[in-house]
Amino acid sequence: MVRENLCEVESKIEAACGRSGRERNTVKLIAVSKTKPVSMLREAYDAGCRDFGENKVQELVDKYGQLPEDIRWHMIGHLQRNKVKYIVDKVYLIHSVDSLRLAEEISREALKKGVTVSVLVEVNVSGEESKFGVSASEAVSLVEEIAKLPNIIVKGLMTIAPYVDDPEKNRLYFANLKQIYVDIIQKNIDNVCMEELSMGMTGDYEVAIEEGATYIRVGTGIFGERQYTTV
Ligand SMILES: *Cc1c(COP(=O)(O)O)cnc(C)c1O
Repeated sequence: MVRENLCEVESKIEAACGRSGRERNTVKLIAVSKTKPVSMLREAYDAGCRDFGENKVQELVDKYGQLPEDIRWHMIGHLQRNKVKYIVDKVYLIHSVDSLRLAEEISREALKKGVTVSVLVEVNVSGEESKFGVSASEAVSLVEEIAKLPNIIVKGLMTIAPYVDDPEKNRLYFANLKQIYVDIIQKNIDNVCMEELSMGMTGDYEVAIEEGATYIRVGTGIFGERQYTTV
């Protein structure tokens, strides 16, 4: 099932690239595997996936230990400062940096372990109260502050758009994120290398690609619906 789903996602990515005049290799697919068993990640791996996204530290660390080393692990969920130490040397990219205090902790732990950690700044472009992320106006100054810290590098921006039935409703939010990204590039901040726009999930990744996403994060569209069990 995973392989078939991946084929379908792949053809939609290609179509969206075609519509927007983009090369297929400018869009990277992250298989969001939260709550899913290692066996399913292995299926995706065997079908060619090398980028996986998790939103919980413990789950990421567990899966990291059970799967091949050439996987690029993406931390896409809200990150607590006291858990940073468990993942700085395991993640390829942290998508969810939304405060200077979190960035400082990442910098400190990265320095201790002798690694440099790539991060994205999470922006709440829709202004929904339930969402993490800084406002559009705070994003620029947060990027400037993080740029001064050692062993951490800002690679771009991330957003989680509202859950909607019509993906067109999110087009404006994706375009907004792209605009903030362009504004930051024009500031030419030292130690900031704006390359990535992480936006678009199962319901709206095609629109996100049309608006410039370089990373799309697809869970349900690859692994099927998630079942959350209450403990
Ligand atoms: C769960 C999650 C996704 C994937 O959601 P789907 O709708 O299942 O594709 C993407 N991004 C983040 C931050 C998530 O938490």
